[in-house]
Amino acid sequence: MNKLYIAKGCEPLRMTLDLLNRINPLDGKNKNIAIGIKPNLVCASPAEEGATTHPEIVEGIIRYLFDKGFNNIKIIESSWVGDSTKRAYKVCGYEDISRRYNIPLIDLKDDDFIVKTYKGMSFKICKTVFDLDYLINVPLIKGHCQTKITCALKNLKGLIPDSEKRKFHTLGLHKPIAYLNAIIKQDLIIADAICPDPYFEEGGRPEKLNRIVAGFDPVLIDSYAAKVLGYKYNEIKYISIAHNENSGIPISNETEIVSIHDDYSDQLCDVEIVQKEKKYLNIVDEADACSACYSNLVSALKKLNESGITEKFADQICIGQAYRGYKGIIGVGNCTSCFEKYLPGCPPSVDGIIKFLSDVSGHDIKN
Ligand code: SF4
Repeated sequence: MNKLYIAKGCEPLRMTLDLLNRINPLDGKNKNIAIGIKPNLVCASPAEEGATTHPEIVEGIIRYLFDKGFNNIKIIESSWVGDSTKRAYKVCGYEDISRRYNIPLIDLKDDDFIVKTYKGMSFKICKTVFDLDYLINVPLIKGHCQTKITCALKNLKGLIPDSEKRKFHTLGLHKPIAYLNAIIKQDLIIADAICPDPYFEEGGRPEKLNRIVAGFDPVLIDSYAAKVLGYKYNEIKYISIAHNENSGIPISNETEIVSIHDDYSDQLCDVEIVQKEKKYLNIVDEADACSACYSNLVSALKKLNESGITEKFADQICIGQAYRGYKGIIGVGNCTSCFEKYLPGCPPSVDGIIKFLSDVSGHDIKN
């Protein structure tokens, strides 16, 4: 288990095939098992933007599975709150894969759910998950504006209904993410770090890391991801909780790194992003905000910051489900509808937030 397989390069299809041929993960399995491939299609944005899984990686997995005689395969996903999974499948190149290989694309937003409980916390989980015999998780190694990073553990959040995603945010994200992983076991992880955005979940600032990382342990993969993105794994609360809940073991000097294409096996991690400080986020008061909502606010503030508008704000900007029913001054999203000035939307768009905050501050943004 304590092994990471790393392929370096910029040809995702070939790298994926090389990884799988080396690992041979389904050796001995019945050829009729139901296999689910879960990419990260958080929003309808092509992989080059750094938010979504490269379709060539999923294509490589399908080709490998076909080659080994496995044909009962589906791609499963539910994009974040406010975005359409079907649009993401189309924009991200998955409709094309589905057509060429005759693989169904399942939009889990249309699925029923089953309730499961772990340590007193109940979870609605999409029914399709329980029809699978083998789950291949294909996340990105990527930044996240609330949890700092997202990779294998958090990618399972795409297997729950939107109402449950909102609930996760009211529970602070970390514990429910870790507990969800105690319920759903992932059989294989192939993590995309070709050109992820190291800062934000919705992409737009891709960095060429040119690697794909594979393994069987989500805690190990995520602690590697944390290291690549410039954090210690124990700075990411849900990784530590998942470790304590026996979902895996973090990276250490004991971890064996298997390099597929060149020899750097004596190094745990040969690339580390330096995270930049984002002072303009100090004007945000976030409490249980959904990722899409918070991420749109962060993107809007980044733009406003470039125009010097964020420095002119005297009041905090509030966002999140914890503000429902509370009075305040400036709020973003339907959850702040009792505020003196608030922007409707669930979530509001980046452009809408830019216009709203420009109006509130009394300054026009320079394009
Ligand atoms: S308005 Fe509230 S419920 Fe809607 S996306 Fe924003 S935080 Fe979530």
